[in-house]
Amino acid sequence: MKYYSTNGSSPEMSFREAVIKGLPHDQGLFFPKEIPTLPADFFDRLPSLSLPQTAVEVLQPYVSPDLSPEALRQICEEVFTFQIPLVEVEKDMYALELFHGPTCAFKDVGARFMSRCLQAFTGKDKRVTVLVATSGDTGSAVANGFLGLENIDVVVLYPENGVSPIQEMQFATLGQNISAVAINGTFDDCQRLVKEAFTDPELNKARNLSSANSINVARWLPQMVYYFHAWGQWKKLNSNATEITVSVPSGNFGNLAAGLLARQMGLPVTYFVAATNRNRIVPAYLETGQYSPAPSVATIANAMDVGNPNNFPRIQEMFGANLESLKEVVKGFWADDEEIKGTIKLVHQTTGYPLDPHGAIGYLSLRQLLPELHTPGIFLETAHPAKFKDSMEEVLGQEVPLPEQLKAFLGKQKQVTELPNDFAGLKLLLMQEHKEGTL
Ligand SMILES: *Cc1c(COP(=O)(O)O)cnc(C)c1O
Repeated sequence: MKYYSTNGSSPEMSFREAVIKGLPHDQGLFFPKEIPTLPADFFDRLPSLSLPQTAVEVLQPYVSPDLSPEALRQICEEVFTFQIPLVEVEKDMYALELFHGPTCAFKDVGARFMSRCLQAFTGKDKRVTVLVATSGDTGSAVANGFLGLENIDVVVLYPENGVSPIQEMQFATLGQNISAVAINGTFDDCQRLVKEAFTDPELNKARNLSSANSINVARWLPQMVYYFHAWGQWKKLNSNATEITVSVPSGNFGNLAAGLLARQMGLPVTYFVAATNRNRIVPAYLETGQYSPAPSVATIANAMDVGNPNNFPRIQEMFGANLESLKEVVKGFWADDEEIKGTIKLVHQTTGYPLDPHGAIGYLSLRQLLPELHTPGIFLETAHPAKFKDSMEEVLGQEVPLPEQLKAFLGKQKQVTELPNDFAGLKLLLMQEHKEGTL
């Protein structure tokens, strides 16, 4: 597969080149040159395929010829080791639980897949440093995805006071090839420092820097797999049903863009819902036709606090930037913190199901839209509720127990380098560690 830039002025690249580069020169996003369609018999077989088997069939055309079928099969078997179950919350309303991976959020899927691709492409004699800025979930998914891989070091930059204690523990206690750097600044400062590192010639000469940003094709494409897996599970339960709506709690819109790509490959999803918190740039666009990025506002669904969704150009690409055809498939919805809290509480009382703040927006969007759309619904549960322990306990008035994966991080020693909010300190650290070979 070749990948072109959505801005149209960068050369086409192979999968391998697109994974290593991350971003085209022209600040666009890599997009596959062709969107293959899957044969009808694939959908007949889908309900009985395992997650890794589904992954191989869906992803093969996108990684060929850079990964052999055998290499892809091995990667998929290492990546998709946890369940992604479809759970019936109430009649005709299902949760796709994406939180059974090592850091209890859907980003585990993309981060793990990307780590194995990068390892396959960088070879044995070349050390690569993955530099990533995080406001919480990305850092933990990337750090755990890359943990213990040979020849790849990961440096996670995060705002000193900007991530929850559980989130910090998930990347700051790992050791091995993972370093945590706390910046005395905000998440935006961390992102700026990462950008500066990528444009510093001396640093780039000393270390091969790579980014594990969510726009990397190796993080984006594997997210398609669980939409197919969800449909297969739903068909197993409802063999005669044909129409379905899938709601995607969204921030940067990588997840929804992957669902829409799956639909273009033939996945029979009738509608998608672009569900957001108060950062309602995309629902507002669907309603008014005005696309107006804005500074993000803080909400309790904080992994979706994005004011300028960086994957949205991929969605525009799929629909030829035609608002009318986009609106035929994608319905907009947004909810504020009070609605999110009310939904968590009500659903817990009536069904016993513990929604997390992100999944709650997905659930509520279906509650409101399905009566008009006349289909059953699936919403993505993007993170385990215990990742947001404090706000969950406040809403539910009872303790939310940690799952085993998160308990494992408790009581471990943190190893953090604290740095002021300037590039000189970061550069010195990266140059020194390089010289001493400690990373
Ligand atoms: C990252 C994240 C989202 C948003 O996903 P996008 O692909 O950026 O739209 C939603 N929920 C959780 C829990 C996340 O970590």
